[in-house]
Amino acid sequence: MDLVAYADVAPASGETVQGREFRQIPGGKGANQAVAAAMAGADVTFIGAVGDDAFGTQLRSNLVDTGVEVSGLRMEPGASGVAHIVVDGHGSNSIIVIPGANGTVTGLEEDDLPLLRGSAALLLQLELPMEGVVAAARAGRAAGVPTVLTPAPARPLPGELLDSVDLIVPNQHEAAAITGEDDPERALAALLELVPEAIITLGADGSIHGRRGEEPTRVAAVQVTAVDTTAAGDTFCGAFVVARAEGRSPRAALEFAATAAALSVQRHGASSSMPTRAEIDAA
Ligand code: ADP
Repeated sequence: MDLVAYADVAPASGETVQGREFRQIPGGKGANQAVAAAMAGADVTFIGAVGDDAFGTQLRSNLVDTGVEVSGLRMEPGASGVAHIVVDGHGSNSIIVIPGANGTVTGLEEDDLPLLRGSAALLLQLELPMEGVVAAARAGRAAGVPTVLTPAPARPLPGELLDSVDLIVPNQHEAAAITGEDDPERALAALLELVPEAIITLGADGSIHGRRGEEPTRVAAVQVTAVDTTAAGDTFCGAFVVARAEGRSPRAALEFAATAAALSVQRHGASSSMPTRAEIDAA
């Protein structure tokens, strides 16, 4: 659950500032990507866990309401995962994530495997214990499902994970943390030594995509006035994967994803800011 405080200026350490507004919004990178992909037109199944608190019930309902299938969503004793988010007057955010029930997802259950088989893609993020992410990536690879990793929040990536990843989608900060390169083209080249395909999202500067042995493709962001960039990357990733699964070229899929993300940054919140397929097509 995202607990979001909007203020003109984010507080520095030790400082107290007056905010403008508080909102409680269903979030979580995995849930956000699931909602983004479902709203962009895909059949989506979510695997993960919520707590048996009030947030857990609301988080489950939010997935169901946006058309995401939740038979792989477990309810564990204790607190749901929360993200404490500060959004400043420029629409930039800073976030603390507390895993809660997400910390219990250390592997797949038997019942999860049939959900994977025949899927067009498996989307993974790093808000679960690493052993759970690795187990899912391996199961995806074994089932022949292309595996897409958003390496966020940034943390060291074990080789056993990278071995099972087909596409990695970091933002510029995450790409720099993984590769040690601030320059996007150099970071992209370094990522392609780890996995066969990569996209680095560059905020208002768009995105850059590459596959081993091919020239990189750069796509600009759509020029809009951002009010809240929370989950821009999740919207982008969900939409990109849907467009690729529908057979679009990487460039066309990047443009579709940039359109979806640009719509999302013009509204507040995470999943609540995501556009429908009709809105993306119209834009
Ligand atoms: P994250 O949310 O993971 O930090 P980014 O900030 O890189 O990811 O944003 C992901 C994508 O969202 C960008 O590639 C771009 O297409 C779109 N986007 C982000 N910020 C803006 C903005 N201010 N205006 C238009 N599009 C944006």
